[in-house]
Amino acid sequence: MADTARDHSRCAASLKGEMADMGVDIAVSTSRPLVAGPYTTDGFTCPHGTTYWIEPTGEQIAAWARDGVE
Ligand SMILES: [Zn+2]
Repeated sequence: MADTARDHSRCAASLKGEMADMGVDIAVSTSRPLVAGPYTTDGFTCPHGTTYWIEPTGEQIAAWARDGVE
Protein backbone atom coordinates (compact mmCIF):
# COMPACT_ATOMS: atom_id res chain seq x y z
CA MET A 1 0.00 0.00 0.00
CA ALA A 2 1.93 2.97 -1.25
CA ASP A 3 -0.54 5.35 0.33
CA THR A 4 -0.16 4.12 3.91
CA ALA A 5 3.59 3.78 3.47
CA ARG A 6 3.79 7.44 2.64
CA ASP A 7 5.77 9.48 5.10
CA HIS A 8 3.33 11.00 7.58
CA SER A 9 5.28 14.25 7.61
CA ARG A 10 4.02 14.82 4.08
CA CYS A 11 0.32 14.27 4.76
CA ALA A 12 -0.59 17.88 5.52
CA ALA A 13 1.40 19.16 2.55
CA SER A 14 -0.17 16.64 0.21
CA LEU A 15 -3.68 17.58 1.35
CA LYS A 16 -2.87 21.19 0.65
CA GLY A 17 -1.41 20.20 -2.72
CA GLU A 18 -4.49 18.22 -3.71
CA MET A 19 -6.76 21.14 -2.90
CA ALA A 20 -4.44 23.52 -4.72
CA ASP A 21 -4.79 21.27 -7.79
CA MET A 22 -8.53 21.94 -7.55
CA GLY A 23 -7.84 25.66 -7.35
CA VAL A 24 -8.56 26.03 -3.65
CA ASP A 25 -6.05 27.57 -1.28
CA ILE A 26 -6.47 25.99 2.16
CA ALA A 27 -5.00 25.99 5.62
CA VAL A 28 -4.47 22.60 7.26
CA SER A 29 -4.72 22.17 11.02
CA THR A 30 -4.63 19.18 13.34
CA SER A 31 -7.04 20.80 15.78
CA ARG A 32 -10.77 21.17 15.25
CA PRO A 33 -11.81 24.77 14.57
CA LEU A 34 -13.13 26.41 17.74
CA VAL A 35 -15.99 27.88 15.79
CA ALA A 36 -17.49 26.18 12.76
CA GLY A 37 -17.48 28.67 9.92
CA PRO A 38 -19.43 28.55 6.66
CA TYR A 39 -16.57 26.66 5.02
CA THR A 40 -15.81 24.26 7.86
CA THR A 41 -15.91 20.66 6.71
CA ASP A 42 -15.53 17.34 8.45
CA GLY A 43 -12.02 16.41 9.39
CA PHE A 44 -9.95 14.24 7.09
CA THR A 45 -8.17 11.33 8.72
CA CYS A 46 -4.96 10.34 7.00
CA PRO A 47 -3.82 6.71 6.72
CA HIS A 48 -1.71 7.22 9.86
CA GLY A 49 -4.72 8.08 12.00
CA THR A 50 -4.22 11.83 12.33
CA THR A 51 -7.27 13.99 11.68
CA TYR A 52 -6.72 17.15 9.71
CA TRP A 53 -9.17 20.01 9.50
CA ILE A 54 -9.02 22.00 6.34
CA GLU A 55 -10.42 25.43 5.73
CA PRO A 56 -10.00 27.90 2.92
CA THR A 57 -7.54 30.65 3.70
CA GLY A 58 -8.67 34.23 4.16
CA GLU A 59 -7.18 35.01 0.76
CA GLN A 60 -9.22 32.20 -0.81
CA ILE A 61 -12.44 33.39 0.77
CA ALA A 62 -11.71 36.94 -0.38
CA ALA A 63 -11.11 35.66 -3.92
CA TRP A 64 -14.45 33.80 -3.89
CA ALA A 65 -16.22 36.92 -2.65
CA ARG A 66 -14.54 38.97 -5.38
CA ASP A 67 -15.49 36.45 -8.06
CA GLY A 68 -19.03 36.06 -6.75
CA VAL A 69 -18.62 32.37 -5.88
CA GLU A 70 -21.05 31.13 -3.28
ZN1 LIG B 1 -0.39 10.69 7.86
